[in-house]
Amino acid sequence: MMINRENIHKALADFCKEKGYERFNLKTVMFDMDGVLFDSMPNHASSWHKAMTDFGLDLSEAEAFMHEGRTGSGTINIVSQRQFGKSVDKATCQKIYKRKSEYFSQCPTAQRMPGAYESVCNVKATGVTPIIITGSGTQSLLDRIETNFPNLFHHEWMVCAKDVKLGKPNPEPYLMGLKKAGNLSPSNSIIIENAPLGVQAGHAANCFVVAVNTGPLPDEALLNEGANILFHSMTELSENITTLINEANNLNI
Ligand code: MG
Repeated sequence: MMINRENIHKALADFCKEKGYERFNLKTVMFDMDGVLFDSMPNHASSWHKAMTDFGLDLSEAEAFMHEGRTGSGTINIVSQRQFGKSVDKATCQKIYKRKSEYFSQCPTAQRMPGAYESVCNVKATGVTPIIITGSGTQSLLDRIETNFPNLFHHEWMVCAKDVKLGKPNPEPYLMGLKKAGNLSPSNSIIIENAPLGVQAGHAANCFVVAVNTGPLPDEALLNEGANILFHSMTELSENITTLINEANNLNI
């Protein structure tokens, strides 16, 4: 589907009708990180595949993309249940996750996703505050964000691994983002997501979810989870995000 002002408007209007919202009043745009801001998903997928193989568990790189956003133990136990009919014990689970983290740290540093910087700049230029909502959380995370996206994100409102218990697909991370940003309503925000479980989380938080398909999954994997509009790259998003925000704030149902 070709993206233009008309179908952006229709997606926003359909969403408001479905939710019973009279209008948007956008205060913040919540950006997922892996696969949206950074091209880090191929590294995660290959690390998952190698670590699981080391422990006799079958998880292809392609399937790893389907689990993006899930907690480490959640992913491990889905595969273990499928293969052996039982979950792995907690100690083994921690070993597998540690191995995955080791493989990940050996990967080349993920680059900024093309179009991500422009997308965030364009959000900020409208006066709406961009924030990051992620299940990741390494110590170098903040540094990496500041290096790649200097002075763009409002860090006090960021949600990362230490803030959440349940993780995606539970709406918890996005609900926490709304809370941190000043007890906002879902109609005060939109979400930018690349993963099926992330779209599911955003949808469950009652927010308008912009899916950006930056990986190998079919568009349906994102649309079927409740994405309200879909872009095929962050570059395409960067070219349309200003229109999307202005259409949202001028919408009157
Ligand atoms: Mg992601």
